[in-house]
Amino acid sequence: MPSTVHAFDAVVVGAGGAGLRAAVELSRQGLRIAVISKLYPTRSHTGAAQGGIAAPLGNVEEDRWEWYAFDTVKGSDYLGDQDAIEILARESVDAIIELEHMGFPFNRTPDGRIDQRRFGGHTREYGQGPVRRACYAADRTGHMILQTLFQQCVKHEVRFFNEFQVLDLVVRDGRVAGVVAYELATGELHGFSARAVLFATGGYGRVFKITSNAHSLTGDGLAIAWRRGVPLEDMEFYQFHPTGIYKMGILLSEAARGEGAILRNDKGERFMERYAPTLKDLAARDVVSRAIHQEIREGRGIGGRDFVHLDFRHLGREVLEKKLPDVTEFVQTYLGLDPAEELVPIQPTAHYGMGGIPTDVDGRVVLDERNTPLPGFYAAGEAACVSVHGANRLGTNSLVDLVVFGRRAGRHMAAFVRESDGVPWPSDAIAEAADRLESLRRRREGQSAAEIREALQTTMMRHASVFRTKESLERARQDVAELKERYQRVRVSDPSRRYNTELLETLELGYLLDVAEAVVVSALNRTESRGAHWREDHPRRDDTAWLKHTLLYRGEDGDHRIAYKPVVITHFQPQERKY
Ligand SMILES: Cc1cc2nc3c(=O)[nH]c(=O)nc-3n(C[C@H](O)[C@H](O)[C@H](O)COP(=O)(O)OP(=O)(O)OC[C@H]3O[C@@H](n4cnc5c(N)ncnc54)[C@H](O)[C@@H]3O)c2cc1C
Repeated sequence: MPSTVHAFDAVVVGAGGAGLRAAVELSRQGLRIAVISKLYPTRSHTGAAQGGIAAPLGNVEEDRWEWYAFDTVKGSDYLGDQDAIEILARESVDAIIELEHMGFPFNRTPDGRIDQRRFGGHTREYGQGPVRRACYAADRTGHMILQTLFQQCVKHEVRFFNEFQVLDLVVRDGRVAGVVAYELATGELHGFSARAVLFATGGYGRVFKITSNAHSLTGDGLAIAWRRGVPLEDMEFYQFHPTGIYKMGILLSEAARGEGAILRNDKGERFMERYAPTLKDLAARDVVSRAIHQEIREGRGIGGRDFVHLDFRHLGREVLEKKLPDVTEFVQTYLGLDPAEELVPIQPTAHYGMGGIPTDVDGRVVLDERNTPLPGFYAAGEAACVSVHGANRLGTNSLVDLVVFGRRAGRHMAAFVRESDGVPWPSDAIAEAADRLESLRRRREGQSAAEIREALQTTMMRHASVFRTKESLERARQDVAELKERYQRVRVSDPSRRYNTELLETLELGYLLDVAEAVVVSALNRTESRGAHWREDHPRRDDTAWLKHTLLYRGEDGDHRIAYKPVVITHFQPQERKY
């Protein structure tokens, strides 16, 4: 198999918000850097983010970073690390102003300041009532972030390798030496030798059947790191967003409820009044998703079925057109409904992984509970777990996580690269990936990847989603183990070298299987309910036993090792969580 080796100071894997923000930082420091992305950069999932990006600017009403930090801690069900959350809350302000200076087209108040709107779980005065904290560009906020950061990268002459899929992280003598990537257009393998590598490969919603996530979100970075001995942190916490389009999972942003849309059951009741008397439809996402499922279970889904309604009718056409144009268009396109006049059927949709590759507040990947770094390896964005989101992320808190911690990771990498003399590129680094690919490409007989994927997504949806029990999770674990076994015999029907997307999708299925296993094993182990992880057989949060992070190390044949890391608490002692 033909191969080439490139040499850079630093390599960023992933061109979403986190990867691009880190790349801007690195390139400003005059380093030779490469951004490797399996998608064309502006097609990254960050571009699909709709509703907003949080910062306590106080432009529309009084706000303070301390209130924002408290909301994030409470939203995380007290599992978020408070030192990291304080950094997020403080640095969000500067990160937003910086985006503004880069040319981000924010919606404005009449006097020309950045406009802000409401979002779930964001409050004034430590939970007294909703506050307007989400900065936004209509309901296309993520699209604008990606365009703005991409322009900056072009300006700083960042070198892009687009439609290059990273297959492996090269580690020698306990240090990172670079990555191996596959070029989609030619089928060629490339080595990238670098003193520092950042994984910003995004989420893994595709382990579930109903998801808001793009097809490319297959947890590559997590699985690759896990296979190289890095633990995965808090994988039991996966967020279901309350409002996906029924049966399709396509997201209707929380900005809809931020602008006043209401959830209704079969009786037309505004049922969130019963579950969250203060914040109602704007309670944290885990609370709202569980409430929807509860209504459905008790027979109050629409027509007794498995969905409820989102009601926009009282908002008026002007608000829909000016503030929610994409949401309106999605409802029209995918459902053929007019939200100004008709009720919209929704169900919770798999949305965001709170867990991921463990890092410290500078983006350094850490290997254990003592935060020992793996020198040269960094992670940021949804692939990483800092952890600012703990057991449940608040809306608008991912985009701000990308820019705050993407920037911090970029800064730390630049300093590290200057001080480090690098690891020589090992001559056998590409061979292992080449063997794996060739054996897949040559196999003519075997299992269909599409069937395995479908079975995986179905079992994860049924047995490991919003409500979980020991039995359901054991069932999921068994199913995943069987599917992994079938995957050993998977076949790729397309033998070609050029643009062999089937080959890459088959590799992605391998990542999905690993990540699903990590979710299920971690979820079985945690015998309490916290944030998005709801165990019906252990329906209470148990701070005595479980106020700690899970670190899951990969073992052979499903024999994984679990360790725990303490939660960092600064100002906010765990309390009962009411909205
Ligand atoms: C529909 C939707 C709406 C959302 N709305 C909001 C919102 O309003 N506010 C908010 O805060 N959050 C929102 N989120 C969440 C947020 O958008 C994501 O968590 C965030 O954008 C992830 O950014 P990222 O940079 O980590 O990864 P992504 O933007 O997902 O980018 C991942 C990158 O990694 C690359 N990549 C992956 N694997 C490989 C590989 N093997 N080799 C090479 N490259 C690879 C991809 O090409 C891509 O460039 C939303 C999410 C969705 C799905």
